Formats: sequence, C-alpha cells, structure tokens
Amino acid sequence: MRHVAIIGSGPAGYYTAEACQKTFGDAVRIDIIDRLPVPFGLIRSGVAPDHQSIKHVSRRYEAVALTDNVRFVGNVTIGDQISIEELLGLYDAVVLATGAPADRPLDIPGAELPGVVGSAAFVGWYNGHPDHAALAPVLDGPGAVVIGNGNVALDVARILAKTEAEFAASDIVAHALDALRGHAINRVTILGRRGPHQIAMTPKELGELGHLERAIPRVDAADFPPIEDDTALDPGQRKSVALLRGFAEAAKAKPIEILFDFFARPVAIEGESRAERVIVERTRLTADGAAEGTGETYAVPAGLVVSCIGYRTSPIPGVPFDTRAGRFANDEGRIAPGLYAVGWARRGPTGTIGTNRPDGFLIAEHLAKDLPDDSGKAGRPGLDALLATHGVDVVTFRDWQLIDKAEIDRARDGAPREKFTSIETLLGARGG
Ligand code: NAP
Repeated sequence: MRHVAIIGSGPAGYYTAEACQKTFGDAVRIDIIDRLPVPFGLIRSGVAPDHQSIKHVSRRYEAVALTDNVRFVGNVTIGDQISIEELLGLYDAVVLATGAPADRPLDIPGAELPGVVGSAAFVGWYNGHPDHAALAPVLDGPGAVVIGNGNVALDVARILAKTEAEFAASDIVAHALDALRGHAINRVTILGRRGPHQIAMTPKELGELGHLERAIPRVDAADFPPIEDDTALDPGQRKSVALLRGFAEAAKAKPIEILFDFFARPVAIEGESRAERVIVERTRLTADGAAEGTGETYAVPAGLVVSCIGYRTSPIPGVPFDTRAGRFANDEGRIAPGLYAVGWARRGPTGTIGTNRPDGFLIAEHLAKDLPDDSGKAGRPGLDALLATHGVDVVTFRDWQLIDKAEIDRARDGAPREKFTSIETLLGARGG
C-alpha cells in the first residue's frame, strides 16, 4: 500500500488524486487535506460566478472524492496545525497542490491606499472566500481601473459591468450582488502595459464583453499594428485581436464604458486619503517585445483600482521556496524526497483548469518511480491520531455534502447556490 497526502483540494489536487487512482488502483490511499472546510479551491472561489459551465468540472472531482481510496480532510492547515515533517513521517508522498492564493505585489507608490485591491482579494470577495468576504471594495465611482491584460482582468471588468439580471443564474454571493447593485461606476479602464498583440486574454472571455446589457468595450484603433501583422499570431490570439479590432469600431453608447488603454503602465496611485487617480506612463514596445516608458504621463481618475497582475504561492515552513518565481522550488514537480508540488504551486499561475490534468499524471509517474510498494508508513490512522491530539475539528466529504445541500437550499430564485462565507457558518451548516 502507498500512502499519499495531497495538500489542497482544487483542480491540481483532484487531478493528482485521479491520476494516482489510475496508476495504482487499489494499492493507494489518498488523503486530500484543505485548510478550508469546503473542497474544490479555485473552482469555488476563483472561477467567476457567472461561468457556471466551468464550475461543472467539480462533478468530476466529486466522483473521485466518493471512491474508497480517496478521503477529504477539510479545516486542517498544514504548516500551522500539522507540519510538513509530521506529514512526511506518516505518508510515502506529500504533494503540495496549494495553488497561488496571494497577489503579486503592485510595487508602485500609493498601492497601499484604500480603494486599491489585488485580484485575489476582489475575486475572493465576490466569490465568498472566507478570507476576503469582508473586503467591502469602494464602488462609488465614477471611474475604476483594472490593471493587467489577462483573463482575470476581464473577469473583474465584466463583474463590475453586469446588471443584476445578468447575474441571475450565477452563484455570486449576496453581499457582492448588494454592493454591485447600487454602484456608481460608469467607466472601467483596463490598463495594459503592452499592446493588443501581447494580451493574455482568450477569445471566449474577451467576446463576452461585446454582449453586455449596459456596458460597451472601447479600443483606440490607433493602438493596433497593421492588420497584415495579425497573420503571424497563433489562431487563438488572432481571434482575440480580431475581437479587439471589432470593439474599436463599435459606436453605440451604453451607460458603462470598458476602455482598453494599451501601452499604458501604472507608475503611481494618488489621492488624499484614498485612491483618486492612477498616474499612467505611455509605453512603447522594445525590439524584444518588452514595455519601455516614453516619459509621457497622464492621470486616470479612479476610486477603485484592482490589480490583476498575477499570483504567488504562499510559502509553507520547511519547504524550499523560489522567491523570484513565487512558487515552491522544484524540479519537474520534485521538491525533496517524498515531497512534490503540482499545478500553480509547481509551475506558477498559468494555464486553464484542464492544464492541471497532465500535471497530475506527471506527479503520479514520479510516484510510481520513486515510492516503494509498501513502506509500512501509518497513513490515514496516523493522521487521525495526530489530528485528535491537536483537537482539530475535521470536515469530511460527507460534511461537505451537507454544506453543499444547505447552500443549494438557501439559493435565490434561479441561482445555483447561496454560499456561506465564513468558517463558522460553513461549519455550522454541517448540522443540516
Ligand atoms: P496573466 O494571464 O498572467 O496576466 C497578467 C497580466 O498582468 C499580463 O497582461 C501582464 O502583462 C500584466 N502585468 C504583470 N505585471 C504587471 C505590472 N507590474 N504592471 C502592469 N501589468 C502587469 O494572469 P491572470 O489574468 O491573473 O490569470 C492567471 C491564469 O488564470 C491565466 O492562465 C489565465 O488564463 C487563467 N484564467 C482563466 C480564466 C478563464 O479561462 N475563464 C479566467 C481567469 C483566469 P505582461 O504580459 O506585459 O507581463
């Protein structure tokens, strides 16, 4: 028997469990440990609430979770209640699938002003993540700035622009819907430090901006290179750029403008006691495709600034960390004997949910090579004994099913669920 502990119950964690099941069959026992009392990581608290079709992948993880050789152990923080050393003593392999939950710091003057938030916090707020539910972002408008040209920037801009009716079939939490209902924002400026050809946005997500009820995307036609240059792009990027070119032609006025400001690098945020404006420097591309400042600056008025410039993995005591890359130091997923990393914790915050599937199989291949058939380690009973000595209130997958049902039962008309947003209410919902 092989005993595997996976830390983190998001896509990387469940795909790794699935890969281990396929590789070892009945000869493996897997514990998926999460610091939250709920599973599925980014599926629950990162994927946008109006992207329900993406969230359906959790059904696949549920099928893995309900097998005999996989167990969910929620409400347990590794590195705090239990150390990595203790886990390595109990399991043949410990796989870190903890994602990248922290914002990359926006390192400019004024980034600490009220009104400036990172996307981890803002996305966590509208998704009801217990760490961020109390954020209360400033939404008194009229301007908001979103920094970054990735899909998270698109999510944030779209959430700010949608009407209440457009959230009908979503699982946006009530506190966010209430706050967004009355907001006074009429211009969302998306700052990209490079140009339309360098965006990290995908066509489906970009296309959604063109179909919003009360908002219209705008792009300055002067920002594009000659149209012949688009042929050198890969097909997905060409499609995205074609959508942007379409936005540049849109003349119709709507109450909210989503303005793509390319070649625009934020250099400071200013305001008396809160964010009032972002100081932006015009850029140009260098020969190797980087952004270079031109020295020309201007101000974009904004009471809310959401920085969507990528994420970092949170370090765990005793685990080697690559500070520059913002993830665990690893060689193709191997960190140290018995210790592995997978998903964003291994390779940084890139790719789609599905990218984590081959990642999980890579780790299962490593385990097949590295682990003895039977080391005699304690595995599950050992963890249970340790948790009992620490007095930890463990949440099981059965408990999650009760929380799940309670959230579905209290949903608004048409909404798939109404999430509990604090650890206490989540734990309370196990009572049925
Ligand atoms: P991302 O795709 O890496 O985009 C980050 C953006 O921030 C880039 O445009 C980058 O510009 C910019 N940036 C970085 N540092 C900056 C700075 N100091 N100042 C100004 N701009 C800066 O990251 P993400 O949007 O957080 O997304 C993370 C991953 O999740 C991606 O793989 C994304 O596709 C995925 N995701 C997918 C979906 C979906 O499929 N629906 C939704 C959300 C997220 P440069 O290119 O110039 O560095």
